Amino acid sequence: MSSSTGFPLYRGDMRYRCLGCGKNHGIDELLYTCPDCGEVLLLEDASFDSLKKTPGKQWRAIFDARAADKTPALRGIFRFYEVMAPVLEEEDILYLGEGNTPVIEAAPALLRSVGARFAFKNDGQNPSASFKDRGMACAFSYLKALVRRHQWTDVLTVCASTGDTSASAALYAAYVGGPIKSVVLLPCGKVTPQQIAQPLGSGALVLELPGVFDDCMKVVEVLAERYRVALLNSKNSWRILGQESFSFELAQWRNWETKHLCVFVPIGNAGNVTAVMRGFLKLYHLDIIDSLPRLFGVQSHHADPVYRYYAAPEHSRRFEAVRVSPSVAQAAMIGNPVSFPRVKKLAEEYRAVGGERAFQVIQVTEQAIMDSMLEANRHGHIACTQGGECLAGLKEAKAAGLLDAAEYCVLDSTAHALKFIDFQNMYFSASLPAVFGIEPDPALTNRPGLLLTAEERQGMDEKEFVREAAATMARLLRLEART
Ligand SMILES: *Cc1c(COP(=O)(O)O)cnc(C)c1O
Ligand SMILES: [Zn+2]
Repeated sequence: MSSSTGFPLYRGDMRYRCLGCGKNHGIDELLYTCPDCGEVLLLEDASFDSLKKTPGKQWRAIFDARAADKTPALRGIFRFYEVMAPVLEEEDILYLGEGNTPVIEAAPALLRSVGARFAFKNDGQNPSASFKDRGMACAFSYLKALVRRHQWTDVLTVCASTGDTSASAALYAAYVGGPIKSVVLLPCGKVTPQQIAQPLGSGALVLELPGVFDDCMKVVEVLAERYRVALLNSKNSWRILGQESFSFELAQWRNWETKHLCVFVPIGNAGNVTAVMRGFLKLYHLDIIDSLPRLFGVQSHHADPVYRYYAAPEHSRRFEAVRVSPSVAQAAMIGNPVSFPRVKKLAEEYRAVGGERAFQVIQVTEQAIMDSMLEANRHGHIACTQGGECLAGLKEAKAAGLLDAAEYCVLDSTAHALKFIDFQNMYFSASLPAVFGIEPDPALTNRPGLLLTAEERQGMDEKEFVREAAATMARLLRLEART
């Protein structure tokens, strides 16, 4: 199965498959939409069925053995090479430490208060602190392969972003360097200071436009259509492919036991939820897992086009983009998800195997998102607002009777808490703008306390100051004197 260096020998026959007209297109160029009908694409391996000759049990053994492999190219998402992008060569694979993010069981007190068994998969523990690195590692590896093959000397990568895509794209572009340059387009004032600092620090050209993400997306789409640029939004199906690794890792973490497993993911541009479904479907078709986990997509009531679509009765479902209102789950604040056609297609496939309950979409309030994130983090987690959105979704699913007692839920905390820390700051200082509709809960609020003012310190010598500060602190904490 592998060469003497440990790198897999299998090579697939990958092509873009159009979700509109069904045509296949070769992967020797970077396509985002079908040249014939304009619909979005997914990457498929035409020889996937040949992988079925290997029993599921053997695949599990291969992937488990590879977890100990020392080949850098196989340490991250490409551990699952044969079901990932089995057309890339070892020299093209880019590894910056993405993937293999931990699944952390909810703290005991949090388990009790929520009343369901669950864990967070901390995708904020990726190199740029969000799950976007999974897709970027794959997209950049493919780009490197193209650059090598065509000997390109100049490649401009562009993306529109709610913050994390640009942070990730800029990081990977900076690492590869050489012919690859990064340009990112952000909605002005709709990205956190941490997120804007990331592409700046990586040396990318950072451009802003007034408006929301959906506006920026339209602009880069025009660029990608008319000019020679490499688009790194999830319209780029190489990103979807890399993000499937979330499902592979989770199944492996559970020792390939996926019965009674539920997964919660936030939905923004809907690339991630597509990838998670595809990942599990691949494992299922190769007999690596014997049942599909149930998947819950979660959306805020301020940006919920996918929820609305599935909430309508089946015969009257029609997709309509929504105008978003500000959301603390800012990375998912998208009214016209580019990957909606992918979700629709994958949800059909997913439900055909796992039944109607295998894929559901839940709507939560801004208040529940914020409160849930703070609650999680007060219990030792590092959930971002989108992770809080997943926890709010879990509570909602439980309240609606959608969960069975035997089920175990894994919540995708898609980024690190620190990226969205300004929402916490605003909540704690009761300064969240009214449009969010969030009332801070005093029980979840926390503020620093000043022991002595600068004026009080003035005029004290060092000894007095230390004595006074310690005494004030002891009074505040009602400490008992040592006897
Ligand atoms: C991008 C992003 C999302 C939304 O994912 P989609 O694939 O666009 O649905 C959610 N959370 C975080 C932290 C993100 O960066
Ligand atoms: Zn087509």
